[in-house]
Amino acid sequence: MSNGIVYLVGAGPGDPSLITLRGLECLKKAEVVVYDYLANEQLLNYAPESAERIYAGKIGGRHNQGQDEINNVLVEKAKAGKVVVRLKGGDPFVFGRGGEECESLREANILFEVIPGVTAAVGASSYAGIPLTHREITASVAFVTGQEGKDKNESNIDWDRLSLGNGTVVFYMGVTTLRRNMKRLIEHGRSPETPVALVRWATTPCQQVLVGTLADIADLADANSFKPPAVTIVGEVVALREKLKWFDRRPLCGKKIVVTRAAEQAGEFSEKLAARGATVLECPTISLVEPESWQLLDLAIRDLPSYDWLILTSGNAVRYFFKRLDALGLDARALTGCRICAVGPKTAEEIRAFGIKPDLVPTDYKAEGVVDEFSRLDMHDCRVLFPRADKAREVIPIALKRMGAHVDSPVAYRNIFPQRLLPETLFALEKRSVDCITFTSSSTVQNLAAMLGEELMLDMLKGVAVASIGPITSKSCRDLGLRVDIEPEEYTLNALVNALEAHFYSKTKVDTSLATDNFN
Ligand code: SAH
Repeated sequence: MSNGIVYLVGAGPGDPSLITLRGLECLKKAEVVVYDYLANEQLLNYAPESAERIYAGKIGGRHNQGQDEINNVLVEKAKAGKVVVRLKGGDPFVFGRGGEECESLREANILFEVIPGVTAAVGASSYAGIPLTHREITASVAFVTGQEGKDKNESNIDWDRLSLGNGTVVFYMGVTTLRRNMKRLIEHGRSPETPVALVRWATTPCQQVLVGTLADIADLADANSFKPPAVTIVGEVVALREKLKWFDRRPLCGKKIVVTRAAEQAGEFSEKLAARGATVLECPTISLVEPESWQLLDLAIRDLPSYDWLILTSGNAVRYFFKRLDALGLDARALTGCRICAVGPKTAEEIRAFGIKPDLVPTDYKAEGVVDEFSRLDMHDCRVLFPRADKAREVIPIALKRMGAHVDSPVAYRNIFPQRLLPETLFALEKRSVDCITFTSSSTVQNLAAMLGEELMLDMLKGVAVASIGPITSKSCRDLGLRVDIEPEEYTLNALVNALEAHFYSKTKVDTSLATDNFN
């Protein structure tokens, strides 16, 4: 036996965060990843950069012939001593041909492990709000392939048993054969009125749900050009969706929203939008770079013992300052004797990460609030070091100088705008598939205009709702010819999120018809 091993990992139904911890662990140590069309490609980002990525569809070609070749690749790579992850959509052992792959590995005497995944029926059930079993409705569920038994006499499926009683039936791979399978259930005794849900791309932002009955779902699917991949859930439990649906009830569900903050700052805002169902497209309009010269900051750092105060006003200032300290061969000890003011709780946290407790963390962390705190101290003749961004406001240094302090404010980093948009965002804007763009400071909109050119920006944002965080940013938008559709009353990210919700809520036509439920 070689040292190679194959992990058959269930990737889950679509939402990449539904993979198991064990699955992720295996992926992180993979040397080769062989992945399927149904496994979310974002999961590949967790594999080491050096790992070889093989798309099984490319090896596969046609379904049946391809399987032998996939088996061979797994065997060969493992024989060469590699750690191989076979990443499969859903669960490897539910209609995933994982059984066949394991058989061939066993024959070749290769070690393997199988890591389960959330199978499509289960993912669709949760995310469509359709419990597969329910004490009052049904105590059984069957997973059935929609592709089996094209010739009625050859079917391995016991249609009588499946059709009688009230067990839930979930078909996989059953969109193209929908009409035939629904008809069979009726012929074998299920009521034509039984509710049916088709759930497509379950658990992903593109999830679509189409609800009907055994009698009419095939017509509805045709009328809506419903395409695979989808599972078909048949049974009275489907009626619970009206009450239990949650995924497509989230206020920003299905909305594509562009976030123009700096990459370093976008995270929290983007997460809030995503938690409300939005698909977030990041569009960094600011990036941070080193100063043109380190000379002034270096002079100050070498002279640190002579300073009474060091003021750091952002996480960026902390990171750039300490990076430079390190580059000069110094560490936190160079700050002995110097008091430290951290503006904002996050800045304070970053300073603590260097093992230093800030002496002053002003409660109000706008520049005016900081000045207010210092005005209570005797700053006369104090030496203050204030490393900062190149375009920072002058409020703090000016006020401190008025108090009699000597302030040095060398540039520690610069804000510049990136040369181009991220391809995914540009693509969505060009395709006109974006619902909303958010601007959280004047520089975000001004930089976007500079990146795209004003005319192109106006053209690309036609029909896109513009959300601005407050009056100053809105003015910058209008100055550039943009119409502002959303502006919260309070100047905070939370208020902006709420305003977005309110905007899209009022725009959503609440469609109560069961048949076209969330179908677009
Ligand atoms: N091993 C997979 C199933 C593979 S068979 C699993 O456990 O889920 C492929 C079929 O799975 C598709 O035809 C479709 O019926 C279903 N499927 C897979 N992913 C799906 C998804 N995100 N939404 C709906 N159906 C899905």
